Amino acid sequence: MPVRLLDWRDGRHFAWPARCVLCPKTTPLRSHAGEPVHKTCAESWNAAHPGETRFVSDPPKAGRNTDHA
Ligand SMILES: [Zn+2]
Repeated sequence: MPVRLLDWRDGRHFAWPARCVLCPKTTPLRSHAGEPVHKTCAESWNAAHPGETRFVSDPPKAGRNTDHA
């Protein structure tokens, strides 16, 4: 199963360091459900669990990016 890269550029994915739910190291990253998890760990989990939607990418911003307003 190929590993699909997640798009987690949104600022809400970053918080204080906490232990990753998938490995013993700490990570500042959060999934959409608020689980502390490395992006690479989440990508590996997705590859090992095809069809499940535990970790998903940010929705595309459809060309109307208001970040620079
Ligand atoms: Zn991890």
